[in-house]
Amino acid sequence: MKFRIALIAHDKKKDDMITLAGEYKAFLSGCALVATGTTGGRLIAEVGLEVDRKHSGPFGGDLQIGAMLVEGLIDCVIFLRDPMTPQPHEPDINALVRACDVHNTPCATNVSSAHLVLSQLQLQAAQKTTI
Ligand code: PGA
Repeated sequence: MKFRIALIAHDKKKDDMITLAGEYKAFLSGCALVATGTTGGRLIAEVGLEVDRKHSGPFGGDLQIGAMLVEGLIDCVIFLRDPMTPQPHEPDINALVRACDVHNTPCATNVSSAHLVLSQLQLQAAQKTTI
């Protein structure tokens, strides 16, 4: 089964997301990816990944991804948040992170934790294909 991964980055973290996705491109290409609108657009255009794009975050994209998570359709969230800039959709962001906690779904909110999560999933995927 493919891992189903959600990718979201606030504006000042989008370059980090592109770099991160580029580093894990081979692994992520084999996953089912969903992203908020602008993040997804850049992942498609700049990394060449296939991504199910939802609405932009401020227009409800985080909530759409949160709903998928609650339905059991997301295995892991990489959410590169900007802790230094107020966001108009802060309640939506909190709702998504809370949904991750409620459903015990891994949620990496910075690049270091994203590396830990993605490298572990990559390892698991490699083990599954070799066993
Ligand atoms: P975006 O949304 O990818 O459409 O910019 C991310 C967010 O702000 O939550």
